[in-house]
Amino acid sequence: MKVVIVGAGPAGLITALNLLQRGIRPLVLEKGVEVKSKACSEGCSLQSLQQIPFRSEPYISRVLKGAKLVFPGDYASFVPKECAVLDRTDWLRGMAEDIRLKGGEIKLDSDVVDIDEHGLSLGNGEHIAYRVLIGADGPDSLIARYLGIKHKLVAASQYQLALDTSGMDYIEFHFDKRFGCGYPWIFPKVGVANVGIEGDFDTLDSFLRYRGLDKQTVVKKESGFIPGSGIGKLVRQNIALIGDAAAMPNPTSLGGLTPIICASQILVRNIDNLAAYEAEVKNHPMANPVLLKPRQTLMSFSSQDLANIGKFLAGFEYGVKPHPQLIKIAKYPSLLMKLHKLRTIYRAGIITEDYGW
Ligand SMILES: Cc1cc2nc3c(=O)[nH]c(=O)nc-3n(C[C@H](O)[C@H](O)[C@H](O)COP(=O)(O)OP(=O)(O)OC[C@H]3O[C@@H](n4cnc5c(N)ncnc54)[C@H](O)[C@@H]3O)c2cc1C
Repeated sequence: MKVVIVGAGPAGLITALNLLQRGIRPLVLEKGVEVKSKACSEGCSLQSLQQIPFRSEPYISRVLKGAKLVFPGDYASFVPKECAVLDRTDWLRGMAEDIRLKGGEIKLDSDVVDIDEHGLSLGNGEHIAYRVLIGADGPDSLIARYLGIKHKLVAASQYQLALDTSGMDYIEFHFDKRFGCGYPWIFPKVGVANVGIEGDFDTLDSFLRYRGLDKQTVVKKESGFIPGSGIGKLVRQNIALIGDAAAMPNPTSLGGLTPIICASQILVRNIDNLAAYEAEVKNHPMANPVLLKPRQTLMSFSSQDLANIGKFLAGFEYGVKPHPQLIKIAKYPSLLMKLHKLRTIYRAGIITEDYGW
């Protein structure tokens, strides 16, 4: 069976590794002249990374204790689930090397510009036939467009800052309405941290000033798009989408790597029956519609509500310490009115915590 994968990002490479484990040698087409990371904060739960048939450990910059959820007033609660911050370009190159060693082929400088039912055309005029085509070509996917699918994208901005991160043991998400509609994040590596936001650089700069990070040296400045609309159509006949091309990032966390790792196992298991791939993904927690709600719901709270949520949850460790006694929420009458919203956010958080962000 000739399986052609378009895109040598995480989705394409992880799928290629899973195919090779099943004895199928794919051809991966990548438009770039080298395998390289796009803008990313490089975080992934350790549990997810361990499911790839590849040793990711040498490419991990830091293993952190989990996620710290920070509310106005610096009240924090914790998700104590180990996560890694990768050196993503090196990680992708390590996987590409492994694919070649195992008999897969990666063709660089191969921009797919046209598709029909049986083959692909490259920018240099070459035509390549396929039996199964996997579109792993990122948020602005040509293959998705060919299938008539369009995703809603959110823009994200990010700096890598030089920073003494020795005392930072968690990735941080900040829930604070002053910084637009998304929540800023800080992912510490060794000697640097990836600091980003859903939104523009002006908003990110105001977050840096607020955190006292605005004097740090900027090592890298990057921006990119994340499909935040949830998983849509995945398959037509012998063509399947995966990763950002399939709008797979978790809409609650915007993390794209864990859904790719889960979906690629499902895809390869069902490579002879792509309809079953679509059905299985749609039944997986990664496609749960509740994940679509928290970002907007959180932003519907006032700053005072967010501060009160922070106080209510202060010090709480999800899945470890007993739940804060609900009765104590009576101290915050405006939150009492919004218990159903809090419950939705909590449910999405539990799903995300369970299968990894
Ligand atoms: C600022 C930012 C921070 C993020 N942080 C995190 C994070 O910390 N953790 C996390 O889990 N997720 C994060 N994400 C999301 C994550 O980066 C993506 O979900 C992930 O990269 C998707 O992988 P992919 O392989 O589907 O697509 P991509 O990484 O976009 O790879 C697609 C590949 O396809 C190639 N390609 C595209 N078109 C063609 C074509 N026509 N022909 C040939 N090749 C083509 C591209 O060159 C590219 O190499 C972040 C995203 C952004 C923007």
